[in-house]
Amino acid sequence: MEDKREISLKRAKELHNEIADYLEFKEQYISDVSEKRDLISLKHKRELLEYFGGTDEDWDDYHWQLKNRIGSVSVLTKFMKLSESQLKMFEEVSKKYRWAVTPYYLSLMDYSDMNYPINLLGLPTNAELNNQGELDPMAEEYTNPAACITRRYPNRLIINVTSSCAAFCRHCQRRRRIGECDRIESEDRINEAIKYIEDNKEIRDVLITGGDPLMLPDEMLESIIKKVRAIEHVEIVRIGTRVPATMPQRITKKLTDMLKKYHPLFINIQFDHPGELTKEAVKACEMLADAGIPLGNQMVFLKGINNDKYIVQLLNEGLLKARVRPYYIFHPKQVQGTKHFEIKVSEGLKIMEYLRGHTSGLAIPQYILNAPEGLGKIPLLPNYIEENDEYHVKLKTWEGKEVNIEY
Ligand SMILES: *Cc1c(COP(=O)(O)O)cnc(C)c1O
Ligand code: SF4
Repeated sequence: MEDKREISLKRAKELHNEIADYLEFKEQYISDVSEKRDLISLKHKRELLEYFGGTDEDWDDYHWQLKNRIGSVSVLTKFMKLSESQLKMFEEVSKKYRWAVTPYYLSLMDYSDMNYPINLLGLPTNAELNNQGELDPMAEEYTNPAACITRRYPNRLIINVTSSCAAFCRHCQRRRRIGECDRIESEDRINEAIKYIEDNKEIRDVLITGGDPLMLPDEMLESIIKKVRAIEHVEIVRIGTRVPATMPQRITKKLTDMLKKYHPLFINIQFDHPGELTKEAVKACEMLADAGIPLGNQMVFLKGINNDKYIVQLLNEGLLKARVRPYYIFHPKQVQGTKHFEIKVSEGLKIMEYLRGHTSGLAIPQYILNAPEGLGKIPLLPNYIEENDEYHVKLKTWEGKEVNIEY
């Protein structure tokens, strides 16, 4: 009979071996990628500040970041060398879709490798000219019972308060509306939406989104949150934003002091790649968390960016360190101009299956596909149930071991 301790030690060794490849990947990522990228970003920051004639304080001021957004090749080529064909591509894509990034987001990019994930997230590519896919796969027009409201569920809904964003993500599923204009909803339309929520007493959860609601000035954002909060039957308010990733300077003490007056308030962010989890981004998340705001992350699976089990694990473990709980991973929709980011459901499921067991349950979000025609979110789960009838159930563990339970 083997000693119990001996058995445990043997199992522990087996478990360690199970994670050895990831540990090696992580160590290599930190020394070869993160640390080098930090230095490169710092160099880019210096160059950008010099070009725009700014100071370190300017860099930390989101007004400065917004004012100096880079959205034309004439400025971009001051930093990145673009080939003839790349220049032509920028010209072609610009006719169809707008592009712009903050100096901060540009500083995270690789100036010589257009396939680096942050470049792919922020700068257009030829692939956007592919016309396959739909323009409005979410059919938002058919779930719009009042101004700027999307309602697909019995007791919760969305208010879209603006079409403006700090940077225009190349995978944006709302590109039909975003990036064409920076339009903030008028007070009349916001009031119409508020009135709708007041009149529908079953609505207990209001999600303020856009575009990016943190593009609104503090006062305007506060006036909306205040009105929503004042509705007695609204129990929780949520904000969806990507600025902690694309313009973390937006998260100021003034903002967090304002937000924390309206608890229970939740914020969901969108980080898509570990390269976005910079010191500045982590600090922005910490400030929000310190204001008592529970934070979630909504990643989108994107080919060439995060369709890799180790990248997802690294991102999600990094998010937890920044006190952000991975909430959803979205399956990419078939939106025109984003075909190149598409992955198959089976590929996403494999990554989800890997995560279970290999990392904290807290680092495992739900994998969601948004049903066409606004029918709502569908959770996609790896299959752990192999047989299931009145007398027994046959299951599979995270390692693929078979488990039988008889009733
Ligand atoms: C995603 C979404 C929500 C929020 O869904 P949760 O699963 O509660 O996070 C609400 N309304 C609409 C229209 C949505 O698309
Ligand atoms: S922040 Fe959201 S809405 Fe704005 S461009 Fe990115 S994905 Fe689209």
